[in-house]
Amino acid sequence: MKLLQERIRQEGLILSDTVLKVDSFLNHQVDTQLALEIGKEFARIFGGKTITKVLTIEASGIQFAMAAAIALGVPFVYAKKKKAVTLAENVYSAPVHSFTRQETYQVSVSQKYLNPGDKVLIVDDFLATGAALVGLVDIVKESGAELMGVGCVIEKSFQEGRGLLEERGVEVHSLARIASMSPGEVHFVEDQPIIQKV
Ligand code: 5GP
Repeated sequence: MKLLQERIRQEGLILSDTVLKVDSFLNHQVDTQLALEIGKEFARIFGGKTITKVLTIEASGIQFAMAAAIALGVPFVYAKKKKAVTLAENVYSAPVHSFTRQETYQVSVSQKYLNPGDKVLIVDDFLATGAALVGLVDIVKESGAELMGVGCVIEKSFQEGRGLLEERGVEVHSLARIASMSPGEVHFVEDQPIIQKV
C-alpha cells in the first residue's frame, strides 16, 4: 500500500535495526482516514472469502480491526491481555511471550464471541516475532472457528513472524513489508534495485 509506505518513510522513527516507531499516525495518535483506507484494503484483499468476524488483540490492533470490520460489514472482537473480572471463566486463551517487554501474558476471548461456525480474519498492527498472532491463531483453532487469513498493517519481514504463521498453513497479507531498516533508512520488500543501463 503506497500511501502507507510513504507515511512510514516520512514519519516513521527507526529507533534501532528492529524497532520502528509510528506513533504520529498509527500507534498513539491515529490518522483516522488512513485507518479507514487500511480497513478497505484488507476488505479488498480478503473480501473474496466469506468472513463473519474480525479478531484482533488490544490495544494497537483495535482501530484497524474496526476499520476492516466496517468495510466487510461484520463485527470485530478484540482479545484481552489481562483477565478482567467482567470476563467470566468461559474463555479461550493462549500464552503470548512479549520480546519487547520480556514477559509472558495470557490473552483471552470470551467463548460467547467466537463460535465453530465463524469464519475469522485476524488483523493486527505489526507482525514481528509473530508471538501475538500465533496466540490468536491458537485461540481461533481452540474455538473451532475457521481461520480465513491474517492481515497486518506493517510486517518486519526480517523477523520470524511470517514464517511461523505460514508453517501453520496461515495465509498472511501485510500492507507494508519492511525488508530492512536502520536509523534514517527503510527498505520495503518490493523495492526493486535500480539497474543502470550501460
Ligand atoms: P510480535 O513480536 O508478537 O509479532 O509483536 C507483538 C506486538 O509488538 C505487535 O502487535 C506490536 O504492537 C508490537 N511491535 C512489535 N514490533 C514493533 C515495532 O517495531 N514497532 C512498534 N511500534 N510496535 C511493535
